[in-house]
Amino acid sequence: MAPRIPATRKALPLSRQVPKGSPRAARQAAYLGAHALRRMGVRQTKRAALGAAMRDIGKHKLAERHLQEQQVRLEQLVRERTVQLTSALEAAQIADKAKDAFVANVSHELRTPLGAVIGLSALALGRCENPAQRDYLEKIGKAGKHLSRIINDLLDLSKIVAGRMEIETIPFSLRSMIRHAEGLMANKAESKGLLLEFSIDDDVPDRLAGDPLRIEQILLNLIGNAIKFTPTGRVDVHVSTQTRAADSIRLVMSVADTGVGIRAADIGGLFQPFAQTDVSMTRKFGGTGLGLALSQHLAEMMDGRIDVDSREGVGSNFCLAIRLGLGMDSDPPEDEPGQAISPPDLHVAQASVLVVEDDAMNMEIAVELLQAVGIAPRTACNGQEAVEILGESDAGRFDLVLMDIQMPVLDGLSATRLIRTWPGFDRLPIVAMTAHVLAHEKRISTDAGMNDHVCKPFDANDFYRMLAKWLPEHRAAGTPAPAEPAPAPTPVRPTLPAIRGVDTAAALTRFFGDEQRYRYWLTKFVEESPSVAPEIRRAMAAGRTELASRMAHTFKSRAGTLGLNELQLRASALETALNDPPAGVPELRGLERAIDEARREIATALGL
Ligand code: ADP
Repeated sequence: MAPRIPATRKALPLSRQVPKGSPRAARQAAYLGAHALRRMGVRQTKRAALGAAMRDIGKHKLAERHLQEQQVRLEQLVRERTVQLTSALEAAQIADKAKDAFVANVSHELRTPLGAVIGLSALALGRCENPAQRDYLEKIGKAGKHLSRIINDLLDLSKIVAGRMEIETIPFSLRSMIRHAEGLMANKAESKGLLLEFSIDDDVPDRLAGDPLRIEQILLNLIGNAIKFTPTGRVDVHVSTQTRAADSIRLVMSVADTGVGIRAADIGGLFQPFAQTDVSMTRKFGGTGLGLALSQHLAEMMDGRIDVDSREGVGSNFCLAIRLGLGMDSDPPEDEPGQAISPPDLHVAQASVLVVEDDAMNMEIAVELLQAVGIAPRTACNGQEAVEILGESDAGRFDLVLMDIQMPVLDGLSATRLIRTWPGFDRLPIVAMTAHVLAHEKRISTDAGMNDHVCKPFDANDFYRMLAKWLPEHRAAGTPAPAEPAPAPTPVRPTLPAIRGVDTAAALTRFFGDEQRYRYWLTKFVEESPSVAPEIRRAMAAGRTELASRMAHTFKSRAGTLGLNELQLRASALETALNDPPAGVPELRGLERAIDEARREIATALGL
């Protein structure tokens, strides 16, 4: 058995030393040998370990150096790649911008000839008697308008993507906007036998600040979809307050339908451009799949969003939430009873203004609004007369032209296009006076060369704001007001009895609180309105749809000014139906009945 070697390193004590040659000595020698060997081994191991450690350190240092080199190389690589990526990104951004600019330019280039197709086919329609040719022209016009809507959507989307879409913040009346949307959609819903109802909570203020055209664009898209995808039942539009702060408010506008609904799996992609849930639906209902994407973008630009809740086969509810400014205190609420309008302190009396309008009542109101700030305007009854007056004048003779769009002989768009071709007349401000307030309709007048737009029936505040905008030099120069300024209309306590179906309070504001004038025009309405429907019917029977549509348009505007809201809506429905042949007969019948009823009510109330 191998001797047990104590694990001690100490030398053996002398007492334990043993005689040489003895087995013990041999064992001791063996032990000492082993011990020495062991110690030597330890030393060797240490040296080896030291060597190994030194080698390790060397290796470590080498590795560290290597690492450092790698790091430097990596950093260099990262730098190089970053430069490459940045320039690639810049190139992509430039390409992207170029693409957006291209889309915007192409859309614009498309719109111009399309404007000519729509405008000229309408002009030709006015002069054409041959029924077959009229049919072609009407179809050309209709197809052109459809194409124009698609292009406008594309243009809007490309503007948003390019960051060039701007949202306006202007004061507006929420209830007027909703009424207008209702007027545009009522006919569509009715023709499908759907019930379309609008409601606004009482605590929702009327005067708000925001972009009414864009809000209406979203709303019309949502209501249009709801009608499109609802075979039977109803569509409810409801406006309520979500939260209210000192100077802003969050409104929720919900559009709920009882239609086909949307599968849960499809909801996520709904707001992607060109997304349509079902190809067969697209074939059946048409559409581009752009509307919701566009609407969502617009909502986001108004610090809001659109949410959807839908169940297949049950219906959908689209909720638009947006933040709007609260109207200024100086803006009167839209329907304040008996409110007389006091003209603002505008120094524009020396301004030379031409008003072009075919409707006598609207002309009178425009002239009165101008006279109230000391302007004595020149007047023309249609585009042709306006062209003649301006053609005989120097380019700088007039400071502003207020031009109706739909007029007999020569319409406002054609007149403007013509005027713009004359030397020196490119800078004359021409403002459209029309009930067309949709974004794309506004664009049609801009494309024709008009500078701005004021709505009919006139809202005095908007009218004066428009004047201040386009007659600024007169204002800045502080041109003195005339010695004898036109008398400010005196506020009158309304003594008019309430007339069923007539918003007398709102209408009276348009007549400056002048009850006499209002009564005069109401009486004239009772006398003249029986001929409206028969005349439109005659025009329709003669295939002169364009003339019929213009008559409906003029009547719509007059009814609106007089506070005959239902008639305004019905005339608007007829106008829309006439633009979409061969419809129009039930709308005309509805209008005729409503006119009769309104006449009776007014005649009784006024004791005629
Ligand atoms: P478009 O209506 O032009 O196709 P939109 O972006 O407005 O484009 O709508 C995209 C799709 O969303 C529609 O094609 C339809 O499939 C679906 N959709 C939108 N609104 C409704 C609705 N109220 N009910 C059912 N489906 C709807």
